[in-house]
Amino acid sequence: MNPTYQLVCPSCGLRFPDEYNLTCPSGCTGLIRAEYTTSQLSIRDLPGLFRYADWLPVTGHLPTRSAPICYKSTALAGKLGLTDLWIVFAGFWPERSAYVTSGSFKEFEALPTMVRLAERAKGVILVASAGNTGRAFAEVSSKTGKPVIVVVPEKARDRIWTSTPAEHLLLITVDGDYTDAINLGNTLCTLPGIYPEGGAKNVARRDGMGTMMLEGAVTMKHLPDWYVQAVGSGTGGIAAWEASMRLVADGRFGSDLPRLLLIQNEPFIPMVNAYQAGRRDIIADDMKNPKEAISRVYADVLTNRAPPFGIPGGVYDALNATKGVMTTATSDEAKAAGELFKDIEGIDLDPAAAVCVAGLIRAVKSGIIKPDESILLAITGGGYERIHSNIPTSVHTPDLEVTQDTGSESVMQFVKEWVSRYA
Ligand SMILES: [Zn+2]
Repeated sequence: MNPTYQLVCPSCGLRFPDEYNLTCPSGCTGLIRAEYTTSQLSIRDLPGLFRYADWLPVTGHLPTRSAPICYKSTALAGKLGLTDLWIVFAGFWPERSAYVTSGSFKEFEALPTMVRLAERAKGVILVASAGNTGRAFAEVSSKTGKPVIVVVPEKARDRIWTSTPAEHLLLITVDGDYTDAINLGNTLCTLPGIYPEGGAKNVARRDGMGTMMLEGAVTMKHLPDWYVQAVGSGTGGIAAWEASMRLVADGRFGSDLPRLLLIQNEPFIPMVNAYQAGRRDIIADDMKNPKEAISRVYADVLTNRAPPFGIPGGVYDALNATKGVMTTATSDEAKAAGELFKDIEGIDLDPAAAVCVAGLIRAVKSGIIKPDESILLAITGGGYERIHSNIPTSVHTPDLEVTQDTGSESVMQFVKEWVSRYA
């Protein structure tokens, strides 16, 4: 058994050693968690976010400078009349020692996920993505030489750029939407040697994202009253809750869980509708005309149609446990908030992060958040303008373009041959 952590099922309580499990071996539906031997966090002398390796489900690490950074805001805080606003930033901002070269906190998921797979199974990881997640895994692959398969909708092909040419990336485009990419990804994962990254079910992805909360609490020297983030799947909210439970158990960061303020981008707000109605389940009425609604959001990465909301250990439980609140921001509000943030804090934001700032502004105006409460604002992506002016990025040409006419046999054969180089 691995001495640093084991996995635990929140439904049946089973504890078991990690064999790259994504679910409970007894078949429960809840999100399995990592349970770490170390209950007090030490900051390790390791690169990037691996300084939080005590609470990552890995034993090794990768060479990286990618990690969240946190600072106390004066500009935005002053503008909103807040006295204790902290910003935890994932992105590229060298003046603040932020070197996430793919620009998004998805890199914090990719790094431990790729280490975990290498330590627990022999094979290649597959990611079906609409953009940021695929790019994050491609970026880690380009820097480390670890192989990865990324499946994206054709229209997202330009989003798969990296700061170093990605020589061990197999990029497959699908003539269809995000759901078609997921479906092809699922089919390919039936081939031997290919492992799904698992989304919210992967403890490495959640605990990688949880470093946003760890970095915040370590810098603030205390847990915040509020943790504010924009959500599509809500996994970032679950990760923040799990990290804050570990910090409470640590004993040095306070005894109250931060309240989650999670924000969705109008008009696609299924989790907001379900939570405000007090429902654990998302119903069809919570996302009427989804295609049309999705076409009108500013941050399309926030448009997951099947988020891990009601399952045990999911978003609903995270909100309930933390006396959390869900709210919304319009696309116009998000654009304005992104401009404001760039003007006064000094860095451009990912659309999802702009939605987050807009949600904070709303929550302050409506009195949900009081001016003297401590707030950790999760900026989950930014600095793209700096990346593109500072780093020569390269867009990866698709290795395989799947259309309606491509036979599934030939796709499987092509991928099988590519994987055999690494098996
Ligand atoms: Zn179980």
